[in-house]
Amino acid sequence: MAILVVSDIHSNFLALGAVAQDSAARAPIDAVWCLGDVVGYGPDPGACIDFLVQRNAVCIAGNHDLAVADLAPTSPFNLPAFEAIIWTAEHLDAGEIAFLRALPFSLTFGPVALVHASPRQPIWEYLSDARAAAENFPLFKTQACLVGHTHHSIAFFQNPASGAVRRRRLTPGSRTPLEGSGRFFYNPGSVGQPHDGDKRAAYAIYDPEEATLTHYRVDYDVKETQRRMKAAKLPEQLVNRLSWGR
Ligand code: ZN
Repeated sequence: MAILVVSDIHSNFLALGAVAQDSAARAPIDAVWCLGDVVGYGPDPGACIDFLVQRNAVCIAGNHDLAVADLAPTSPFNLPAFEAIIWTAEHLDAGEIAFLRALPFSLTFGPVALVHASPRQPIWEYLSDARAAAENFPLFKTQACLVGHTHHSIAFFQNPASGAVRRRRLTPGSRTPLEGSGRFFYNPGSVGQPHDGDKRAAYAIYDPEEATLTHYRVDYDVKETQRRMKAAKLPEQLVNRLSWGR
């Protein structure tokens, strides 16, 4: 069994398509889990939502999803992000907005919990350093917690004896077994707008029987997504950052 784990798609349908194709070539995908921020930033919000609906994906809420659906304040967003949120809301139909409005904050499947940002603040906190991760370990009960939000492919492992937390960057092809790893946070990275210096789309495959998570990156047509963003008159800054993954 193979579950495709994606996060922070951000309306980048070409990146999502590349991830779908690449993952299907590695394993027959039985299910899709999305860790939030389906929309915001990119040019194809409706197509990304439709992709998830068609595959009956499990999806939780991200800050951009809820802002577009008018369920979260827009004040925490910078101007380009805010402009993209307004643009996105204007380009979704009622059914797509209803999809965003119905997203839960967190879900649990056996040893794995899913939340967009952190157990402490499900849509806002950035789990970027070991200290923030350490403070969040007591706030979920499962062995692993899958998160998104920072757009960095990283994991935080807690030493079961000492409680110390170490941060590890996930490299493409790296496999994380649940057995013997202690408790950990795992961020597959962003499909549609990576910020960790690697512009390729990021994702993971979770195999519940093998109890492993494997991280992957895949190239997609960045220039075509940028062309679509320019045609939609989305903010220049959002267009440019796709070129370097920052
Ligand atoms: Zn995001």
